Amino acid sequence: YSTQQLMEKDKAHFTHPWTVFDVYKHEGALPIGRAEGCYIYDTDNNRYLDAVGGLWCNNIGTGREEMADAIAEQVRLMSYSSPFVDLTNVPATLLAEKLASLAPGDLDHVFYSCGGSTAVDTAFRLIHYYQNCRGKHDKKHIISRKSSYHGSTFAAMSIGGKAGDHPPEFDYLSDTIHHVSAPKFYGDSSGKTEAEFLDALIQELEDKIIELGGEDSVAAFFAEPILGAGGVIVPPQGYHQRTWELCQKYDILYVSDEVVTAFGRLGHWFASADEFNIQPDIITCAKGLTSGYQPLGATIYSDKIHQVISEEGHGRCFAHGFTYSGHPVACAAALKNIEIMERENLAGNVSELAPYFKERLESLLDLPIVGDVRGRGFMWCVEFVANKDNYELFPEELDIGKRISNLADGKGLIVRPIVHLNVMSPPLNLTREDIDFIVDTLRSSIEEVVAELNSEGY
Ligand code: PLP
Repeated sequence: YSTQQLMEKDKAHFTHPWTVFDVYKHEGALPIGRAEGCYIYDTDNNRYLDAVGGLWCNNIGTGREEMADAIAEQVRLMSYSSPFVDLTNVPATLLAEKLASLAPGDLDHVFYSCGGSTAVDTAFRLIHYYQNCRGKHDKKHIISRKSSYHGSTFAAMSIGGKAGDHPPEFDYLSDTIHHVSAPKFYGDSSGKTEAEFLDALIQELEDKIIELGGEDSVAAFFAEPILGAGGVIVPPQGYHQRTWELCQKYDILYVSDEVVTAFGRLGHWFASADEFNIQPDIITCAKGLTSGYQPLGATIYSDKIHQVISEEGHGRCFAHGFTYSGHPVACAAALKNIEIMERENLAGNVSELAPYFKERLESLLDLPIVGDVRGRGFMWCVEFVANKDNYELFPEELDIGKRISNLADGKGLIVRPIVHLNVMSPPLNLTREDIDFIVDTLRSSIEEVVAELNSEGY
């Protein structure tokens, strides 16, 4: 099929995630035919550096022969077996042991699912079992943050706090799920210093806990170490520690949603403990767990939770699970993926090159519409503003992020536009030369858009 034919078929039948259902507005998706390392190739064989790593997931790079072999070998040996009750499979067992050894503290137990959303839903149900087994039947309120993204299944969507994800005409779990402010200092118009801004966030969280009934009512706090889809928001220094301490004070489970930040993205296996120095009760992960070679999610939870449900549950069944929990092929892919990350010290490459990535991206701040550059490790965004002095944003219909990323596409670079941002989470084996290409291409794309905007009277 020609690229044009494929685009027409796609537009006619494939409903993509997060797209406008308007055939006239939507120009159609570009078919990608193959991928190798950091690069993807469209069906006309044009090459692009994929600085989004698929969708924040392609940590080891695509097209690895040994991943193909590990997956094929497992398919030949046993493509599927049931995970229910008294059956298990070897890759699932070994991966659970491996994850328990990599996860911080007493996070020794693993519940598998199909991706990030189902890992978050699993955490949600586990929390309720835990609190109920302790006899705390009213301890059912959840707190998360505005601008957070935790997935698209019902509970995960409700826990997420991105503006627009909870349209008033649709039901979601609003009685027991509550959102406090996002820890985004850039653009804050209150005139506070960053330290005062942090104090206010902590006060707001404590006020919310008390308002909901405190220790007797609040079951868990959900947080991404760095908010990803909500705009790569890196909280002020000390935020994680202080929110975690509040959770300790009020006996609230701390859930770190590391679907994006784990498996080397910030230079560590898990960012919550190693980058931000906190000990969560539950970590949810997916994406980099298999580097996208297979779909897999994992909810890694503490011995404390396991003990309470085991001892106080009095034989109660955790009535939760998926046909594909612990899928042998996905688990075999995860084991090989982790082996490659260890052997090639990919997290070490992130730690080594992150300062260079940061420095190069920050050089874009001299451009008139680049308001902020933020991130850590290999997780970055560039925020565009109409006026740097007062943080005035461009009108949404201008679609500034997309306008710039479209130009970058044409120059062989894929970045992810999110309204007025361009977001990056490239494979972890990126080189200095790749970083130079990303930043130089972004610069020329932004400069072109600035020239266009000037001629349009902005
Ligand atoms: N949690 C976070 C922090 C995410 O970024 C995402 C997806 O981007 C999810 C959960 C949902 O993961 P999935 O799309 O695999 O269901």
